[in-house]
Amino acid sequence: MEMSENGKKKIGVYICHCGTNISQTVDVKAVAEYAWTLPDVHLSRTYQYMCSDPGQALIQKDIEEQGLTHVVVSSCSPLMHERTFRRAVAEAGVNPYLFAMANIREQVSWVHTDKAKATEKAKRLIAATVFRVSRQEELFPETVDVNPAVLIIGAGIAGIEAALKCAIAGKKVYLVEKEPSVGGHMAFFDKTFPTLDCAACILTPKMVDVGIHPNIELLTWSEVTKVDGYIGNFTVTVKKKARHVDIDLCNSCGDCVEACPAIMYPDFKVVEINNRLIKQKDPSEAKVPVAPRG
Ligand SMILES: Cc1cc2nc3c(=O)[nH]c(=O)nc-3n(C[C@H](O)[C@H](O)[C@H](O)COP(=O)(O)OP(=O)(O)OC[C@H]3O[C@@H](n4cnc5c(N)ncnc54)[C@H](O)[C@@H]3O)c2cc1C
Repeated sequence: MEMSENGKKKIGVYICHCGTNISQTVDVKAVAEYAWTLPDVHLSRTYQYMCSDPGQALIQKDIEEQGLTHVVVSSCSPLMHERTFRRAVAEAGVNPYLFAMANIREQVSWVHTDKAKATEKAKRLIAATVFRVSRQEELFPETVDVNPAVLIIGAGIAGIEAALKCAIAGKKVYLVEKEPSVGGHMAFFDKTFPTLDCAACILTPKMVDVGIHPNIELLTWSEVTKVDGYIGNFTVTVKKKARHVDIDLCNSCGDCVEACPAIMYPDFKVVEINNRLIKQKDPSEAKVPVAPRG
């Protein structure tokens, strides 16, 4: 934990007016006076635009001259400017993880009209942020090796396209599909809305591509059962279901489907009945006569 020379924490709190975005609804002066009473707060200030260059310079000057150890900026959402302020405090010598933001714009001034209540809420958010920052510890980014391989679950058109993009970019791809074949819903369509393109003309070349691309390991009739590890270092367990055919001898004649005592269908079929595409779960229902097209 970073400390000042005499071992005390020195927190600087900065309340932003955000033009009138905040100051119209929140009494920023009252909030700054309150912040000064909080434990370990060494100074608190208000400023028109904390995110501006002079606003950031103000913080940096205080860090250098007053020896601030932690910084709280009370302004907009951290999504907007957390990185801005982390960079500013780091440039002045404070670890960027000893910085915290209180969002008194999106969470206060933009959603309240009662100034007294809004000011009270802003004080509470700032108090919580001051307590939090005083417990934060210095962090130092590290660079570690990661396994850049990609695992994609589901080989519909989205999974196929993603797999091809990653594979072409040079990544090793594991494409896992729970059904016996790739293609997903699109494999059942004649034309695709809204362009009325021929679905098979778009899909089938891509189905072939994922099957032969050297960077893609295609695992059909397979399901992910376990995921261990963390980003860059996952270990995934995939269950390959029994096909009951010798893949090396298979010539796609389809005789095994008729002969197989197990149900080898996908767990649904899309059939066209009276010009409507309908999903059917029970394979026996798929035998309902299909209405002629056109
Ligand atoms: C009747 C119908 C008509 C449609 N018409 C159109 C149209 O004209 N135009 C259009 O743009 N869109 C249309 N859609 C939507 C269309 O389905 C999608 O745009 C597109 O097919 C979705 O592709 P996808 O890859 O995201 O999903 P899907 O095609 O659903 O593919 C998902 C794949 O993931 C697999 N999967 C799921 N869970 C797992 C798991 N746990 N492990 C492994 N694999 C898994 C599935 O088996 C499947 O192969 C239609 C949808 C339906 C139902």
